[in-house]
Amino acid sequence: MAHFGVDYYPEHWPQSRWPIDARMMREAGIGLVRMGEFSWAKMEPAEGKFDFAWLDEAIAVVAKEEIQVVLGTPTATPPAWIIERNPEILPVDHTGMVRGFGGRHHDCQSNEAYRAHIRRFVRAMARHFRGHPHVIGWQTDNELGNSHRTLCFCDSCKQAFRAWLKRRYGSIEAVNEAWGTVFWSQTYSSFAQIPVPLPTPNSHNPSLLLDWKRFCSDLIVDFQKLQIDILRAECPGQFITHNYMGFFEKTNYFHLARDLDFICHNQYPLHFRKDRDPVAPPERLAAILDLMRGIKRKPFWIMEEQAGPTGWETVSSTPRPGQLRLWTYQAVAHGSDAVVYFRWRTCLFGTEQFWHGILPHSGQPGRRYAEVKQTIGELTPLMPRLGDGGQGAEVAMLFSYDQEWAFQVQPHHFDFDYITHLMTYYTALHKAHVPVDLVSDAEDFSAYKVVIAPLMFLMTPDLEAKLRQYVAGGGHLVLTMRTGVKDWTNQVVPHVLPGPLADVVGLTVDEYDCLWGVSQAVRWQAGERAADPEPCAKWCDIVTPAGARPLAVYTMDYYQGTPAITANAYERGVAYYAGTELPPRTMRAFMAHVLATAGVEPLIAPAPEGVEATRRRGKDGDYIFLLNHARTAAELALPASWKPLIGREFVREHVLQLAPYGVALCISA
Ligand SMILES: [Zn+2]
Repeated sequence: MAHFGVDYYPEHWPQSRWPIDARMMREAGIGLVRMGEFSWAKMEPAEGKFDFAWLDEAIAVVAKEEIQVVLGTPTATPPAWIIERNPEILPVDHTGMVRGFGGRHHDCQSNEAYRAHIRRFVRAMARHFRGHPHVIGWQTDNELGNSHRTLCFCDSCKQAFRAWLKRRYGSIEAVNEAWGTVFWSQTYSSFAQIPVPLPTPNSHNPSLLLDWKRFCSDLIVDFQKLQIDILRAECPGQFITHNYMGFFEKTNYFHLARDLDFICHNQYPLHFRKDRDPVAPPERLAAILDLMRGIKRKPFWIMEEQAGPTGWETVSSTPRPGQLRLWTYQAVAHGSDAVVYFRWRTCLFGTEQFWHGILPHSGQPGRRYAEVKQTIGELTPLMPRLGDGGQGAEVAMLFSYDQEWAFQVQPHHFDFDYITHLMTYYTALHKAHVPVDLVSDAEDFSAYKVVIAPLMFLMTPDLEAKLRQYVAGGGHLVLTMRTGVKDWTNQVVPHVLPGPLADVVGLTVDEYDCLWGVSQAVRWQAGERAADPEPCAKWCDIVTPAGARPLAVYTMDYYQGTPAITANAYERGVAYYAGTELPPRTMRAFMAHVLATAGVEPLIAPAPEGVEATRRRGKDGDYIFLLNHARTAAELALPASWKPLIGREFVREHVLQLAPYGVALCISA
């Protein structure tokens, strides 16, 4: 199998250019292209009139250069003639406004007319390309959920939501009970009265809002399944995948993955919009890749890797020399088996005119082409040696869409965010060079030495029992603020917090303090001498130990001196509790303590800021990726047993120099 590819849009270029592109791809070592995922209007210019000849020709051109093809179903872009015929397909946004044709995913995913168009089209496309010797697989749609962030609130979705609730709860009485609709006289006497959460004069029932998010996710899973069923039946032997978007949260990615052979992810470290980090920090990129590996607990692909500045109306900064290579190595290090760059050549027209590809608008190969070619040349011989054994992580973090959605409904503090909170833990582990798996709480996590279970706001008796059993069996469990507050319907449970796990963590939470207009600080005191206080933010659980030992305390106000972090021996394991969102220095001390107690060793000794060390279990040993995300050179000492495969710039014995954005790869047999 080829391991490196590009996203290619032959329909954007004259046919005379295709062989030139294909030859240049082959010369760069590219062996894969994804095509077709936005070209419905070209493949079906009028209902039932299919034209796949141009795509046949494009596949034949790349196949001559031994390049394999992944086809995308173009269902993210229903053509104008479909919208003209069935305007009821247009989606309704959260203000009740119909969104028009002209972008992409201008559609309602529960709408039966739209689904009928998809069935006809996908069946025809699947029948045309099934068994094609150069088409190895399919990508469903594109970035499902991306354009549906605040969609869709139409009548069809309202009916689908009611049917979903009926399947989930059985009766209207059960819905009333689960949502607590006695509050504000919201009791429903039939499913026909249940609204979609359009704006009210103030706000909605939190249980309705959480179920709405679950419904929207399930709708997307069901929408994808519609075409997967067709592709599975028509195209045995060709894989089916989908391109994910990291921490994007409209869809439960664990559920979306159940119908896929493997998942893909689109990685864009540089952003062009004000609401995103302009440059994603390396630990965030790493965490996203670890989540992608954790979705199916096996290797994944990058279906779109940034290949130049991104942009629509505004434009990101340009990748610095070395960054395309660095990001490729990082993706492979965290479990990607293929890296497909977005896109081959920068388009001359359309919304993504400034979403730059490997080639600039001119089509002349330049700096980015040379760097991609070098990267592919280095990694191609190594890819078959990498296995699917993961990173050999001894630490797991639990990741849950239900918890994330519950905090979106009620963030408690204006600045509170589920991912940001998770990242406080992940960042400390990443900077300590400790591999981490991000896994679903439905997984068996009993084999990990340390499990960090942040923000277990919603609890079930099964989950509580599983966590208790993990600690009893010798595990080191970290629980945090807001554990055990609610049940799965988003109602508060009337117990003393953290509920049934109180004896496991050895404390009770008697009060809490939202740090809104008040301040607080924590002091780590488990070391040889107490540290200086460090301000904490957003939230404090105020706890009473019942056996737990304080590792850090609050330093201000009426709960000064009470524990902020605790440890409790429970049967064969240890349960920790962190009552606040920990600031970086305290978090580093806490994680160092947990890792040392659990016997987890870092991959490398402390290294300069910006250096990442990641392990991937290969077929013939452990591959250690050393990645310098900083714009300055870094030196680091290596164990004598590691054999460098790529990056041999030793400044003295066992001391390696990494250039700015430089990489090295070693094997430890
Ligand atoms: Zn709808």
